[in-house]
Amino acid sequence: MKPTTARLTALICLLAASPVSAQQSALDATLNQELPELVSTYKNLHAAPELSHHEDKTSALLARELRSDGYQVTEHVGKYPNPEWQGHGVVAVMKNGAGPTVLVRADMDALPVEEQTGLPYASQVRTKNDAGLDVGVMHACGHDIHVTSLIGTAKLLAAMKDQWHGTLVLIGQPSEETIDGARAMLADGLYSRIPQPDYALALHDSSELEAGKIAYTPGYALASSTSVDVTIRGRGAHGSRPEVSKDPIVLAAEFIMAIQTIVSRENSPFDPAVVTVGSIHGGTKYNIIPDDVHLQLTIRTYKEEVRQHILASLDRIAKGVALAGGVPQDRAPIVKVSDTEVTPAMYNDPALTEREAAALNRGLGAGNVVEKPPVMGSEDFGQFALEGHKIPAFMFSVGAIDVDRIASSEKTGVPLPSLHSSLFWPVPEPTIRTGVKAMTLAVLELMKR
Ligand SMILES: [Zn+2]
Ligand SMILES: [Zn+2]
Repeated sequence: MKPTTARLTALICLLAASPVSAQQSALDATLNQELPELVSTYKNLHAAPELSHHEDKTSALLARELRSDGYQVTEHVGKYPNPEWQGHGVVAVMKNGAGPTVLVRADMDALPVEEQTGLPYASQVRTKNDAGLDVGVMHACGHDIHVTSLIGTAKLLAAMKDQWHGTLVLIGQPSEETIDGARAMLADGLYSRIPQPDYALALHDSSELEAGKIAYTPGYALASSTSVDVTIRGRGAHGSRPEVSKDPIVLAAEFIMAIQTIVSRENSPFDPAVVTVGSIHGGTKYNIIPDDVHLQLTIRTYKEEVRQHILASLDRIAKGVALAGGVPQDRAPIVKVSDTEVTPAMYNDPALTEREAAALNRGLGAGNVVEKPPVMGSEDFGQFALEGHKIPAFMFSVGAIDVDRIASSEKTGVPLPSLHSSLFWPVPEPTIRTGVKAMTLAVLELMKR
């Protein structure tokens, strides 16, 4: 059964303009009504995950739901450099008089992971990835929780229209896992289709936090991520005749050791940074010195100037190692910084974070709102804040694990499956309940009458 907006509105109106606690119980009552349907939507989404750049059905479902709640919906927002990928971004707008513009974003894509949870609604989906390989597909990062929470938040706020003012913008973002979806939506003129928001909000489920709780980090919360390809070029030769070669394998080894000093010797210990070589490929056989070696690196930082410094150092060290090894100029190394696999740090605006943390404390109960340290993982939600953290943004974590599982993990010492694990599963009802409630409260804090 699907409650009508009119019924929801009536329910909310009963307690309109009443004290905060009464508003809260009205919110809870509406949420209770909506939850069974939201949980069933969640299970359907979970069983039908779609890879990044291919969120066809997920975005259509989200668009349908938001349209039925009275939002003005635009689909297929997003332009990628690769013309084969269609933008699956969803933009839903509800105008409600003068007031602030608040953007709420949910990411929609799943991962090439074969689900092993054994849940009755586990994904059985297999597909070909962009490289043509057959892969299992799973919502192993919980973006199905995010989509469902956005649907729930949309319903509550549509029913509570008399309690807020301004322009509410709900975003279904594709391709977060490949960190090019937010950029694709901005490149497709997102901020000329809608007013540039005054605030941007998002949530992510947590594989460690107890369901019912939320956690937040003021200031830098997630790092910037930059992918770098390095090609160390030399001169190939027979393995028995090193004297006629410029061995790129030895040069690559020197390069890898030399770049360890960027973070340890060139960077302030007060500026977190990571330089990781995640892949190295060179050569074909025991007795052949190859022509070149390819390395793939990920760089993580909070500050943009630290990122720029590291990229300049990588280039300088690569060239220096080649020079020391006597590599001719025309075989100098190539350091290529990706312009698609790159995303800025996620910065939670301190004033906005303080304001929202206080509102969530009031709404969820103080014991359910906790501060947590930053991490060097990455997310592309920060893109919506524009360069220099121009638009104040706030992203928080929603606990997704029931108490029993946390207790048994603590008892046995076996860690809980992390995000992206084939065994990760959020407990649906309390996670969605908290996600919807927290996001609704966060929006109301900024838009309330
Ligand atoms: Zn993820
Ligand atoms: Zn995620």
